[in-house]
Amino acid sequence: MEIRMRYMVHLISLLVALTTAVMADASWGYNADNGPATWPGVCQTGFRQSPIDFNLGSVEISHYNKLHFVHYHNAGSVNVTNNGHSVTVSGFETWGPNQPYIYSGGLAHKYKLVQFHAHWSQDYLTGSEHTVGGLHYPAEVHFVHIRDGYTVATAANLSDGIAVVGVFLNLGTPNVGISMLKAALSDVVSVGPVTKVDGFRPKTLLPQNTESFYRYEGSLTTPGCNEAVIWTVLTDPVTVTEDQLNLFRNLKDHHDNMLATNYRPTQPLNGRQITFRPSNFDRIELCGSAPTLRGSISAFIATIASIWLPNM
Ligand SMILES: [Zn+2]
Repeated sequence: MEIRMRYMVHLISLLVALTTAVMADASWGYNADNGPATWPGVCQTGFRQSPIDFNLGSVEISHYNKLHFVHYHNAGSVNVTNNGHSVTVSGFETWGPNQPYIYSGGLAHKYKLVQFHAHWSQDYLTGSEHTVGGLHYPAEVHFVHIRDGYTVATAANLSDGIAVVGVFLNLGTPNVGISMLKAALSDVVSVGPVTKVDGFRPKTLLPQNTESFYRYEGSLTTPGCNEAVIWTVLTDPVTVTEDQLNLFRNLKDHHDNMLATNYRPTQPLNGRQITFRPSNFDRIELCGSAPTLRGSISAFIATIASIWLPNM
């Protein structure tokens, strides 16, 4: 009897888990009836939600070491798919000893790359999830890394289980990485198919300068909004063309409607600390604290200027 009860309880939990997983996938989106304001649970009640705005008043200068991107220059096979919320590029676990990972830069652990995806809108004044001084870039790529030794599921329950690196996309010259994904992005306009791309290098979607970044403790920006993410948002954007942005803008959602926008609005800071690591940290450190602050503020202002003046 007891065994049968236990079996029933297991069966019910399994059904609930399956139902939740299915609902979590197709029931939420970015429209008025299923958008961010309607997302349940921690998405509404949390205190360290993402994305956020980086503004001068809330940013402090950090003394972090450089963030290391290991094996990001390697080429390997990736799977490109449209999950109805974004396009995801995954399969890095199959790279074995060549799986890209990050460490240092203020991170207490090593974090392995599992996938990246993008956020966008139909215009240039919105699109990125994080903002700088209240201003958006036209798009943002998220490189999702899982703490070494954990699975995606177990890492999502730790306060520092996931490390996401955000990279802003700005209008300019073509990006080599997105050029490599062009055919695949055209194949996955609708939800479902998985397209394999060989010889892809994740480094092609990183800016040349990865030394300058914002760091804070936040969450996943999609349901269940798990407060498990150590965020690193690189200050320097990578450039893309309008045609490349349109590859994202043309994608469709679960209902085969246009996935017109997929960015969540910025969330309250709730007293959180944002730190900023300037790229010229090592040099200005030698000159004392006042130049450090001045250098950092000018770097911050340059970032804001670059949003308005993409050709700078
Ligand atoms: Zn994201």
